[in-house]
Parts: sequence; C-alpha cells; structure tokens
Amino acid sequence: MCCRETVMPITATEASRLSRRTGLSEEQFCSKDDSGIRRLLNNQDTKACVFLATSSDLPTAPGICTVYDARPLGCRTYPVILDEQDMAILDDLCPNTSEFDEPTEDDALRLLNFESKL
Ligand code: SF4
Repeated sequence: MCCRETVMPITATEASRLSRRTGLSEEQFCSKDDSGIRRLLNNQDTKACVFLATSSDLPTAPGICTVYDARPLGCRTYPVILDEQDMAILDDLCPNTSEFDEPTEDDALRLLNFESKL
C-alpha cells in the first residue's frame, strides 16, 4: 500500500525538498535499499510512513499526510504503478482502486521518467 508499510521510492531532489520542508535530516525519513534507491521509512509503532499522522497500526485506521503539498511523485500517482512490461496499472494491493480511472500511456511515461531519476 501507499502510506502503510510503505516502500515508496523517492528521488534525491524529493528527499532534499522534504528535508527543507520538515527540518529533518534525510536519515530520519528515508534510507537506501540494496539497489541504492531511497525509500521512505515507516514509524516503528504505527508501521506507517513517518509522515503519516496516525495513532494506530491498523491498515484501515485514519491518517493524514503531514507533507501533502510536498509529497513525492510516487505518492501523487499511486495507486498507478508500472508492471513488469512497464505498462501503467492500478496496484491491486490498494483497496480504493475503484475510485481511480484506468491508467494511460502518459501515466506510464511519467512513471518511467520518474524511475530514471531514482
Ligand atoms: S509521504 Fe505522505 S502520501 Fe507519501 S507515503 Fe508518506 S504519508 Fe503517504
């Protein structure tokens, strides 16, 4: 999912912007995976993105993104993701996909451009 147990990738530019916005060091909200890609961290108690204001670790519990205006592109486009053929699809892990239009080729191009910056 997006904000719960997140593995959301972010670019170096997005990390810098979030750092400026929040006053946090990058190490406080993201880490690099084995491929060197920055990914948002989860709060150990809520198991949600460190930027999600929530009091519960239940996946359906309410929460508000505290960096909404500065949220990374991956958060803005979710639940649209790329499949293994680089086609844009709706992530079937998201419980709200019925609220979204079918992804387009433009969505795929935008995500591919984003991936190239990771
Ligand atoms: S930055 Fe905001 S929208 Fe993105 S995963 Fe975190 S809480 Fe969710």
